[in-house]
Amino acid sequence: MKLTELLRGDRLHLSFEVFPPKTSTAFEDVRAAVEEIAALRPSFVSVTYGAGGGTSEFTLSIAEDILRTQHVPTLAHLTCVSSTRETVRERIAAMKQAGIENVMALRGDLTPELMNTDRSKWDYRYAIELVRDLKESGADFCIGGACYPEKHPESADSVEDIIHLKEKVDAGCEFLTTQMFFDNNLLYRYLYRIREKGIEVPVIPGIMPITNAKQVERAIRLSGSFMPTRFRSLVDKFGSSPAAMKQAGIIYATDQIIDLYANGVKNVHVYTMNKPDVAASILKNLSDILG
Ligand code: FAD
Repeated sequence: MKLTELLRGDRLHLSFEVFPPKTSTAFEDVRAAVEEIAALRPSFVSVTYGAGGGTSEFTLSIAEDILRTQHVPTLAHLTCVSSTRETVRERIAAMKQAGIENVMALRGDLTPELMNTDRSKWDYRYAIELVRDLKESGADFCIGGACYPEKHPESADSVEDIIHLKEKVDAGCEFLTTQMFFDNNLLYRYLYRIREKGIEVPVIPGIMPITNAKQVERAIRLSGSFMPTRFRSLVDKFGSSPAAMKQAGIIYATDQIIDLYANGVKNVHVYTMNKPDVAASILKNLSDILG
């Protein structure tokens, strides 16, 4: 099923994110965790694409497995930055062949290794080029793209960031998923600003439940997200107690989701990161709200 059809509903819908294994030896463990997550019946499951494309074939096999065994709609991520045009075309053809209907078109992170390579030889610079390739493939994919309530770290300012986002949407992105954020007011301001600039596609806020103190540093480093004082106090108080930190992080994420729903947001994407217990706890916390 195309995600644009799913995103029209009136009630709160949660989708979950999983990531593929880095090696084939880890494949079965990851598949078991992913199947547990999909069995919780989220509105869809998104499967990330390893930075630099290193684990690309696993993204497709995990996505296919979710479709085949759990019958849950999937969103397969695809990045382009370090790939040749030929490789991307092969990946697109493989997704089409596997019956994937929804693709998240991403540039991909510039890892330290990629930063040291000769960029003049790259076939792709921005996600918009991948969006165009997907449109031209003739596969009728429902295409999603990433957006950044606190601007992409490489953008000089949010005005420039939103100009490029509008170009990406005009090229064929039918919905957007946001980078994680820990202060909902940043999302509300961002939605107002992008709507004002004529970006009208559905935007799915991305919520990351922080379940251990180490994750905080990593999350800030990767996303550049602002950590509100309220969240910092929680990490200071519970960071040294794994069980308490996990509980507090799940409750904080639940609270963000409730506030989003109360303010009119109907679809929320949860970065569940192959943790079925975290996904299940969030659903349990919201059981009466989800109905
Ligand atoms: P783009 O849309 O290309 O934007 C990147 C930067 O370039 C922005 O600053 C933008 O403003 C700027 N820009 C765009 N077009 C132009 C232009 N024409 N001229 C000048 N500047 C321009 N990474 C992975 O490796 N695998 C994943 O599965 C993955 N999933 C993700 C899911 C979500 C929801 C999000 C938010 C991120 C994900 N990422 C993933 C990380 C993502 O690859 C990085 O954030 C990457 O740095 C940017 O990707 P993008 O698709 O947003 O790029």
